Amino acid sequence: MTDLTDPAVRVSGARELAADLLVIPNAGVDLVPNIGVVGGTEAVLVVDTGIGTANAAEVLAFATEVANGRRLYLTTTHFHPEHAFGAQVFAGAATYLVNRDQAADLATKGTGYLDMFRGLGEVIARRLDGVRVPAPDVVYDGTHDLDLGGRTVRLRPTGRGHTRGDQVVEVPDAGVLFTGDLAETGQFAILPWFPPHDTDVTAIGWLAVLDRLLAAGPRTVVPGHGEVGGPAVLTDVRDYLRELRDETWRRRDSGLDVAAIAAEVREVLVERHPEWAGREWIEPGVGCLCAEHS
Ligand SMILES: [Zn+2]
Repeated sequence: MTDLTDPAVRVSGARELAADLLVIPNAGVDLVPNIGVVGGTEAVLVVDTGIGTANAAEVLAFATEVANGRRLYLTTTHFHPEHAFGAQVFAGAATYLVNRDQAADLATKGTGYLDMFRGLGEVIARRLDGVRVPAPDVVYDGTHDLDLGGRTVRLRPTGRGHTRGDQVVEVPDAGVLFTGDLAETGQFAILPWFPPHDTDVTAIGWLAVLDRLLAAGPRTVVPGHGEVGGPAVLTDVRDYLRELRDETWRRRDSGLDVAAIAAEVREVLVERHPEWAGREWIEPGVGCLCAEHS
């Protein structure tokens, strides 16, 4: 029987969003990201690895087949384990490049997240067997234009949002944007507010990031998790974060404690989005916004 909780990447589900631009959809599976494979005449870029070496090996085999002799690159949208913690499998086969702040996240928080995820259950611990914290080959500053041959992909750090080191991947000729977990569809936005271990997430910064991403006018948005769509993928997350902010701050002013605020806000937002998964992310989001309240 298939273990429905096993975060397995299914490369057979890959579909083409544009010429030589594929996404391996997460198919609604928890802890599986949407993975990109973007090709030019000379090289192919993989965006995110899946969690653990077995998933990453599937992705690498798929990308190698797609590349058909072209050079391989790997990047990750941020340091979280289901996005980056298979990178070691690409060593020697692909050049792994990330932005400066993401490299710092990997170095300072990678081991802690590895331990935390191993504690999430036996299946995930098995997926993380033998996994080492990823070590990028190239760390860039500013934005990075990667020439794949006839197609230039832009790696763009966004500033703090979902994590300190978020970056998005833009494919300008196709109007495609890979957001990592700065967007997800069909679920409440993931705010990893884990004091005292990790308090880098900022809902207010994230809102500003979404405004900037929308202003760039992407036609197709590939979220970190959930269905690919148009700009509405971004506006939906922005609208939700505004609701979360407004509902939290309204109560914060009344002097309730954080737990009481979280309970009330959860009730309101679940009622507003009854079909969304990930209700457990509302409470950390409230904690984050209480800390950001000025
Ligand atoms: Zn994440």
